[in-house]
Amino acid sequence: MSAPDMQHTPSSKSRESMEQDQFLTILSREEALARFEAALFPRAMPGETRPLADARGHALADDITAPIDVPPFDRANVDGFAVRASDLAHAGETTPVRLSLNDEMIACGVAPSLAVVPGTATPIATGGPVPRGADAIVMVEHSHPAGDGAVEIRRAASPGQFISCAGSDIARGEALLRAGTMIGSREIGMLAACGIADVPVVRRPRVAVISTGDELVQPGSPLRPAAIYDSNGAIVAAAVNENGGEAVFFGAARDDERQLEALMRDALQGSDMLVLSGGTSKGAGDVSHRIIARLGKPGIVAHGVALKPGKPLCLAVCDGKPVVILPGFPTSAMFTFHDMIVPVLRRMAGLPPRSDAKVTAKIPVRIASELGRSEFVMVSLVEGNDGLIAYPSGKGSGAITSFAQADGFLRIDALADQMPADAQAEVTLLTPHVRTPDLVIIGSHCTGLDLVTAPLARAGLSVRSISVGSLGGLAAARRGECDAAPIHLFDEASESWNEPFMMAGLELVPGYRRMQGVVFRAGDRRFEGLSVEDAVRAALGDPECIMVNRNQGAGTRILIDRLLGTARPEGYWNQPRSHNAVAAAVAQHRADWGVTIAPVAHAAGLGFIPLAEEHYDFAIVSARKERPAVQAFLKSLASIEARAALEAAGFRPVS
Ligand code: AMP
Ligand code: MG
Repeated sequence: MSAPDMQHTPSSKSRESMEQDQFLTILSREEALARFEAALFPRAMPGETRPLADARGHALADDITAPIDVPPFDRANVDGFAVRASDLAHAGETTPVRLSLNDEMIACGVAPSLAVVPGTATPIATGGPVPRGADAIVMVEHSHPAGDGAVEIRRAASPGQFISCAGSDIARGEALLRAGTMIGSREIGMLAACGIADVPVVRRPRVAVISTGDELVQPGSPLRPAAIYDSNGAIVAAAVNENGGEAVFFGAARDDERQLEALMRDALQGSDMLVLSGGTSKGAGDVSHRIIARLGKPGIVAHGVALKPGKPLCLAVCDGKPVVILPGFPTSAMFTFHDMIVPVLRRMAGLPPRSDAKVTAKIPVRIASELGRSEFVMVSLVEGNDGLIAYPSGKGSGAITSFAQADGFLRIDALADQMPADAQAEVTLLTPHVRTPDLVIIGSHCTGLDLVTAPLARAGLSVRSISVGSLGGLAAARRGECDAAPIHLFDEASESWNEPFMMAGLELVPGYRRMQGVVFRAGDRRFEGLSVEDAVRAALGDPECIMVNRNQGAGTRILIDRLLGTARPEGYWNQPRSHNAVAAAVAQHRADWGVTIAPVAHAAGLGFIPLAEEHYDFAIVSARKERPAVQAFLKSLASIEARAALEAAGFRPVS
């Protein structure tokens, strides 16, 4: 299906009118997918023959009929003697029957040459072909040697006992496997048992992957200022391979219409599908969708989908080949690929639709949502007191970890503006099973915490750490949603840390201390060698000097407010939410000074003037304290190894 109103050539529109064009026709997710599929299917699925060893993960292209019987002959299932059951009709403990042994031993792979005539038996191994005349096998354990060339049997045998007949496993002519079956190790086993060495499979769709953006650098190369690593390229290629395709990565293209068009044409030439990421907004620098309109018919079938994350998704079909532009933000790219592209890719690969497992989980906090777009919220699952809890990832669609570390996602309807706290939501899992962690830590995150939990991971215990800040962690602990809440809260009234915030059901376990201080670029004469008070005085006295603040509610912010008093220097309103953001702002000259913790300052190579020690402790949920994972955590926290690692990283364990 074509949408001519959405196609442009570069010359046909001025930049201004293009900007006015921004997503005039937004389709619902369902409508967009329906148009995309209608333009692509039905279609022929090219086949190929692959050696058995390379067939795994492909869809079978044809039905396979068994060419032979399996087993190919009547086979002994135990080690023992091939006998005639009628010879043993009256055998018993007091009436033993003596059989003379035929002069051969039927091992595996040995064809028998002598018949078993009445009164005789032939020794046979498990897997050996049953000789003519014999109709049962007696286990060697139920026989007794009876002198030269004979055996004595003291129990009756029923005809057919311990024999698998030819074709009893797979019968020649039987439908062995159906077209469309995904070939795994079990299917490979059946094909091998029938002697099939070459397998007709659906050829994996070759999917060309291109990232776009002047800012992109490939992993392995140094990062230049203002650049970021290309994560979408690697993600999309891996996700293609995970879903039945064969990715060919063409690298990252610059936002240059001529160069990109040449690359897209080249990529499409030898591929069945083309997936780009980035540059899909309809702004002036976003050129990919304009190129698509020139690549083939019908062209763009959807550009702009009422989906969050993923609104700028662009779906096209060019001369029978799907061409997709994923949004640039990694979580949007991953989610739209998972939700909208995987179904099409699997169908092209001949694979059945992916079956996503679903679970019901409670939402601990209200989630606001934009009206008019189906919103998908990535969540982490933890075990609550009565069932699963789904913690929304707070990081948004620009964050790679929102999708990568989520257990699943929930959907908020386009017509709803929120999902209230305590609502039960259906969560679609991104893994086949719920992975509830052994240890759940919810609260303020710190890189030192990773040093304490490292031995748990090595011991096979899974640890989930959800970063919601100290107060959020305390609330989660009170609701019984975690084992431990790391907190660093200063109580002004009592001038003490953390203890005043404890409540029934929680107990405080001392963690470690983090030195807070003023950071600046090493060598900056305004700060070097001064006390904190003098340094701040110098900073406030210099109108050129810019600070970086912290968010309201952060422990660090309390320290900054004390230092500043009523002063509001330039940079005051730059209020990032993390220690690392403060260090990055100073290192990159966005600001000249700020307050952060010593390990972060040192890792960023910044100068540091110590100010005050912060107490980073753990509120442990008493009811969960005896759990093995919690005990392992507490043991690690107290261990010499963890304390040494903390110290080496710049923290101070409490003695
Ligand atoms: P765009 O749609 O090209 O404007 O990109 C939107 C955002 O996604 C920008 O912040 C880009 O830097 C980012 N982005 C685009 N492509 C990639 C990529 N391949 N890897 C990581 N981030 C990307
Ligand atoms: Mg871009």
